[in-house]
Amino acid sequence: MEYLSDRIKLLSASATLAMAQKSRELKAKGMDIISLSLGEPDFNTPDYIKEAGKKAIDDNFSKYPPVSGYNDLREAISKKFREENGLNYTPDQIVVSVGGKHSLINVMLCMINPGDEVIILAPYWVSYYDQVLLAGGKPVIVEATLENDFKVLPEQLEVVITKKTRLIIFNSPSNPTGMVYTREEMEAIARVVSRHEGLYIMTDEIYEHIIFKGEHVSMASFDFIYDRVITVNGLSKSYAMTGWRIGYIGAPLWIAKAVDKLQGQFTSGVCTIAQKAAVAALRQDDGSRKMMRDAFLRRRDLVCKLLKEIKGFKIRVPQGAFYVMPDISHFLGKSDGEKKINTSDELALYLLEKAQVAVVGGDSFGAPKCIRISYATSDDLLVEAMKRMKKALELLR
Ligand code: PMP
Ligand code: GLU
Repeated sequence: MEYLSDRIKLLSASATLAMAQKSRELKAKGMDIISLSLGEPDFNTPDYIKEAGKKAIDDNFSKYPPVSGYNDLREAISKKFREENGLNYTPDQIVVSVGGKHSLINVMLCMINPGDEVIILAPYWVSYYDQVLLAGGKPVIVEATLENDFKVLPEQLEVVITKKTRLIIFNSPSNPTGMVYTREEMEAIARVVSRHEGLYIMTDEIYEHIIFKGEHVSMASFDFIYDRVITVNGLSKSYAMTGWRIGYIGAPLWIAKAVDKLQGQFTSGVCTIAQKAAVAALRQDDGSRKMMRDAFLRRRDLVCKLLKEIKGFKIRVPQGAFYVMPDISHFLGKSDGEKKINTSDELALYLLEKAQVAVVGGDSFGAPKCIRISYATSDDLLVEAMKRMKKALELLR
């Protein structure tokens, strides 16, 4: 007999990680899978950061760290917030966690009571939805359409806000759409937050450096809501450090203190070696951030050009991150003569089987008419993947 908690039964497995695992398994069986499923830079961590990690081992940073992170790391983050984002977060308003994913759930566990409503803007990153459930909250989905560039309008938020709404989760540049809100669009959303007492906004800015047009704007830079913003960020994407697991928040002091208390019972803080590597990453700029951003821009152009040649896909050209989210409704209800495609997840499975290309169905992103393609891979593989997809999709009638 197995006894699982209701809490864990409520959760779905992460669709992005599940697809990544599936393609790894198929590759291990000798299949020539091209994986465009996982959102992670294909670059290695820059050498100067790796050196700092090695040095941390030799220097015996092997004891429990402070729960919220080493002082030098929180000072480096505080400086980064000030210089790059125009935000004033003192080191005691900063908590370092095991990746941005951990930072997000920490905040939710500290702020959400059973039955509290949390607004999520669809298409959304898969984990927001399940994290809200895990924290006992009720996800309230507000849908942004492709016609509106996958962006939610302030009036759409106004109509769903109730006395129980505690939090809005905001993400720009967006995973999965790659869309970037303008300063004006963000300010309009900030005004909505300011009009509702007791409403907070958690802004996930993990893709801030991968932006192709204009500048990244931090939600907390709108002074009139600074006290109601939790800024989440991390080093995974900007510094190609997904495996090091470093994320952090800048937040009102009472939230940072609550998260510190939670981590004190949960993780006792973050791996010391990774923290020291993170200090080095933030203190120096060897040009790799820009090099990676430029490569993603080139690939975006390549992928969008090739996607436009595939009949039936509708796209919006992404302005940041490394994802593109085509609308695939044209293919729903169609068949290759053997199997009918009813959902975007089924289309993703079809592409895996017929084209040996792994993408993620839109269902778990709150985008049932779309699929997500991660273009964080080499130009050659992207060209080959698009060729294979085009061929497989032409069979659907
Ligand atoms: N937010 C978004 C939007 C993401 O795409 C990711 C990537 N998985 C994360 C947060 C968390 O990344 P990490 O836990 O590696 O910092
Ligand atoms: N952010 C990446 C993605 O969305 C990594 C996978 C994950 O953490 O879910 O694919």
